[in-house]
Amino acid sequence: MASISIMGTGYVGLCTAVAFALRGHMVTASTKDPRKAELINGGRPPFYEPGLEELLRKVVEEGRLRCVVDRREAVLSSDITFITVATPSLPSGEADLSLVKEAARELGEALKEKPSYHVVVVKSTVPPGSTMKVVKPTVEEASGKEAGEGFGLAMNPEFLREGSAIHDSLNPDRVIIGELDRRSGDTLEELYRGLYGGETPIIRTNIYTAELIKYANNAFLALKVSFINSIANICERLPGVDVVDVARAIGIDKRIGPLFLNAGVGFGGSCLPKDLRALVALSRSLGFNPSLLEEALKVNDLQPLRVVEMAERRLGGLEGRVVAVLGLSFKPGTDDVREAPSLKVIEALLRRGAYVKAYDPAALENAKRMLRGRVQLCSSKEECVEEADCCILVTEWDEFKGLTPSFFKERMRRPLVVDGRRVYDPELFKGEVEFEAVGLGVEG
Ligand code: NAD
Repeated sequence: MASISIMGTGYVGLCTAVAFALRGHMVTASTKDPRKAELINGGRPPFYEPGLEELLRKVVEEGRLRCVVDRREAVLSSDITFITVATPSLPSGEADLSLVKEAARELGEALKEKPSYHVVVVKSTVPPGSTMKVVKPTVEEASGKEAGEGFGLAMNPEFLREGSAIHDSLNPDRVIIGELDRRSGDTLEELYRGLYGGETPIIRTNIYTAELIKYANNAFLALKVSFINSIANICERLPGVDVVDVARAIGIDKRIGPLFLNAGVGFGGSCLPKDLRALVALSRSLGFNPSLLEEALKVNDLQPLRVVEMAERRLGGLEGRVVAVLGLSFKPGTDDVREAPSLKVIEALLRRGAYVKAYDPAALENAKRMLRGRVQLCSSKEECVEEADCCILVTEWDEFKGLTPSFFKERMRRPLVVDGRRVYDPELFKGEVEFEAVGLGVEG
């Protein structure tokens, strides 16, 4: 069993740490935040992720996972270190590598004191060239050792999805290992074979390729979403055409596939938008005009406004209207509101003079920080829709999916429902309430 340390205890770091520990490895997670370390050591995750708390408690109680603030100690107690710190967008769209650089420096300083071989693994999403041009020289300078000799270096992108992060960490579609040297690649392949058995494809590449695979993967998913949202916008202008029928039919084509073809309010979260922006910036810096990728971003910027326009049209203006927003997290199963479409919907409603009430089963705390008192945050869906002139469904939590027309009819001042995620049956709703939905054609 390997001794592993993980720098960063966010969604990727902590879920990866728990997955390794569940398979019997000794894991030391490290964070700069003593409060987070205390929570984790008490078996409590600092964020919401389904199933995580129970498994975290188990591995902490069994002594296979601990969290420290002393990053040096974490590195020295392990043979492999994964860097999983955040790589947010700079105003230019490029990835901000300052946390990665800082982690690499801390790692290098620790390695200076470590006589034995150590593998450094970049798991954060970083643009092609970052591992070789930023991480490698930073660790080399701080450690006084040479990559490929004194320490191993690899880039191992992560594909987990928030909301099913533990499942994804334990059952990935494939593992990508970008390696500087054979020994680093062999070490990681052995680790992952032990974790996943022989079935999971393990693809070994050079480091630049591994870095680009992650961006290409996310860019393709983003394009698929913006594609179906563009089709949805066409459907809305045609008689009797429903994007749900179109998506179901084209998704059967094996060359297309059914996933990521749900029309709605657009993609958000901490990955797709920022990774697409970073790929655009990289592409420009390399002298290629990434017009297709830029268009996917533009479509996505406008898509949340569609549901606001639907409400505005029906109500004849939003000034003074009470609008209920159901769902704030960028998708169900997470409390993450980073770049959530709900925030764009709410901003547009507020700009048009609406009074906004909102409810989310998990993301109220995070949303409160972003919305700073401009929205009435409610403690239940019932309270949220009470006396509203319109309700916009923004995040398709299970709690909202089963709602019937009478739920809205009995509570709202004017029962106008705008389905931004296509969870309600138009036939059922249209007969009972005023109903609008993304990608639903005009009456045929
Ligand atoms: P996050 O912001 O949730 O977590 C990053 C954590 O690292 C924070 O808790 C931060 O305090 C900590 N940190 C920063 N510097 C540190 C240091 N020097 N030592 C120890 N800890 C440090 O980020 P995340 O969502 O887990 O994403 C991390 C990376 O993984 C990003 O590059 C992201 O693009 C990528 N990624 C994220 C997802 C996802 O679904 N969230 C999926 C795949 C890949």
